[in-house]
Amino acid sequence: MAGVYVHIPFCARRCIYCGFFSTVRQEEAARYVSALCRELELRRDYLCGEPVRTVYFGGGTPSRLTPEQIGTVISAIRSTLDLESLEELTVECNPDDITPEYVSALKSVGVNRISMGVQTFNDRLLTFMHRRHTAAQALEAVRICRDSGIGNISIDLMYGLPGQTLNMFDRDLKTALSAQVQHISSYCLSYEEDTPLHALKEQGKLQPADDELCSQMFTLMCQTLREGGFEHYEISNFCRPGFHSRHNSSYWDGTPYLGLGAAAHSYNQTSRQWSPANLDTYLASIENGTPAFDKETLSPKDRFNEKIMLSLRTAQGLNLHTLPLPQQESLLTSAKPFLERGQLIKENSNLRLSESALFISDSIISTLFE
Ligand code: SF4
Repeated sequence: MAGVYVHIPFCARRCIYCGFFSTVRQEEAARYVSALCRELELRRDYLCGEPVRTVYFGGGTPSRLTPEQIGTVISAIRSTLDLESLEELTVECNPDDITPEYVSALKSVGVNRISMGVQTFNDRLLTFMHRRHTAAQALEAVRICRDSGIGNISIDLMYGLPGQTLNMFDRDLKTALSAQVQHISSYCLSYEEDTPLHALKEQGKLQPADDELCSQMFTLMCQTLREGGFEHYEISNFCRPGFHSRHNSSYWDGTPYLGLGAAAHSYNQTSRQWSPANLDTYLASIENGTPAFDKETLSPKDRFNEKIMLSLRTAQGLNLHTLPLPQQESLLTSAKPFLERGQLIKENSNLRLSESALFISDSIISTLFE
């Protein structure tokens, strides 16, 4: 089984914290859609005929495309790759792009999951972050998706925002629960270099949330969402039973995927490659018939470290039996101090982080690397 990721780099405007590759040059959308279809033809053998289980349109803001443009790309994928086993077809949307007509049209081209960047239900913080929507628009967008028959809706939240208190985040979590979505992703704000937010921090114009507050927010989030009926299945991801993101889960379990579009990554279990994060370079290379990309071949050590890093982010953890015996033994030796402190838990052949240790997972996981 395999996945397909389609990067749509267009945004109506840039949010101040965003480090993703995106552009406001939406006039290139039609040309870009043609390039995606052409790239698919040029790279049709990348997945070696593997059936595709998930397709994910991410960005940027995929909902800056019309449903017809998204449908064109889906038709091209359908006619090029094996979609007989397709389970999940997600499109990321911005709440203020959502109308009943838009969602019905997405549904009619096969979309069965919508992921919405809500970030917070606090209007003051939304304005500060340069988001385009209000809290009321986000709730209305969720209602429209639900009423249009999308039975799998995910929202993204952020915590650790400047000026956000524990009480404010508590209200966001409770509002998210009241919205009756099936999936919530919630990330701690990071200050990416070369963003306006990073510059404001460097100029001393804002006070970042301290680590202690972020840790309290993480604990509150785990507890509130669990009490609300959500499973915590990955550091930043929560779902109602049965509604985990099949697409994102395939990144964590090493499933191959084909990434289409500027800045999209592809992975075939032995190497990783990525297209240029530049619209003009991407378009020119595809239109010339020679897709440009950088490539990294993964050594056995890289593959081991990736496996540890990705599997320990999940509640399921790592099945030690998938590693050769000498690697199992050396891993358990490195893991000993964390096992003694209860930060790592070993049950039969399974190794996982405790929920409270997930917040500091990076520092634990990096000490387990080869
Ligand atoms: S809408 Fe998403 S991709 Fe676009 S600037 Fe904002 S956070 Fe970045």
